[in-house]
Amino acid sequence: MKWAWKLTRLAGIDVYVHATFFILVAWIGLVYWQRDGTLAAVVGGIGFVLALFACVVLHEFGHALTARRFGIRTRHITLLPIGGVAALERMPEDPRQEILVALAGPAVNFVIAVALWSWLTVSNAFSPIGDISVTGGPVLERLMALNVVLALFNLLPAFPMDGGRVLRAALALRMNHARATRIAASVGQGLAIWLGFMGLLYNPVLVFIALFVWIGAAAEAGSEQIKATLSGATVGRAMLTDFQTLAPDQDLARAIDLTIAGSQREFPVLSDGVMIGVLTQSDLLRGLQAQGADARVEDWMQRAVHSAEIDESLENVLQRLRGREVPLLAVVQAGRMVGIVNLDNIMELIQIQASLAQRREHTG
Ligand code: ZN
Repeated sequence: MKWAWKLTRLAGIDVYVHATFFILVAWIGLVYWQRDGTLAAVVGGIGFVLALFACVVLHEFGHALTARRFGIRTRHITLLPIGGVAALERMPEDPRQEILVALAGPAVNFVIAVALWSWLTVSNAFSPIGDISVTGGPVLERLMALNVVLALFNLLPAFPMDGGRVLRAALALRMNHARATRIAASVGQGLAIWLGFMGLLYNPVLVFIALFVWIGAAAEAGSEQIKATLSGATVGRAMLTDFQTLAPDQDLARAIDLTIAGSQREFPVLSDGVMIGVLTQSDLLRGLQAQGADARVEDWMQRAVHSAEIDESLENVLQRLRGREVPLLAVVQAGRMVGIVNLDNIMELIQIQASLAQRREHTG
């Protein structure tokens, strides 16, 4: 993750803290400074936040160490202002294991809460419940209460919360993974609408949480859809075989004609049947601005040529197109260029496949 620094390494897992986390710490310090104006209040406030985030780190270790029992490694744990992220290499295929991994996080918070409760009971240190608020009241009691809140919040049956994964895995015991994800995502979005509505009535903070839940649910459903659609598919399925090309010595006027006549936005530039560059729409516009329609294609094209073998997996190609901002890939079979593929082609295929899959479910 960019903008994250390594804090420590525990149980063989690197723990990072994201730069934005320090903004939260600074903000808390400022709030206490404005309220009390003493250094002690600032240190106390920041100390409490750090203690709370230590509980969040333990929560993530709950996930990571449970996953390790099933042979899954964790790349890193990162602290963000909104909470922690344990980057597992993959999720368990077996839904029962996924349920255990997901439950392990909130379970850690419950254990911490029970431990604090026991300590407070034994040492007779409980103070009246009315003294507790988010910023005031005895430290250990607040920490106990917030651990219970953390556990319950994470158990909400909505992505990206742990409860969403539990729900999806429980559904996946009875149906296929893609459909289970879709249903779990719908439940999450329904919950987000309800939360947002309650937020409008009672507390604006809930509206933000609702938004966060909504986006998380949509993202999970989307990435699952892409995975399900692309698994096993090769470039040959998504490539464009009917496309226009340019020659290096043609002028930009030819590219204008082709752009207006068709729907193609990027043109492979071929010399003797070999792709030597790509002219994108923005290259075309830059060339027109600088030199007009008489400019030569080869002066404005991008010379980096990327290609994919026709039997390469679509998942792979999607990553290459996204990761390096390559406009299009030449698809090659036995050394000969047989098609082109860009992000739009792949997205089109995903949408078509998704519609077909939904129809199969409705009719079948
Ligand atoms: Zn969790």
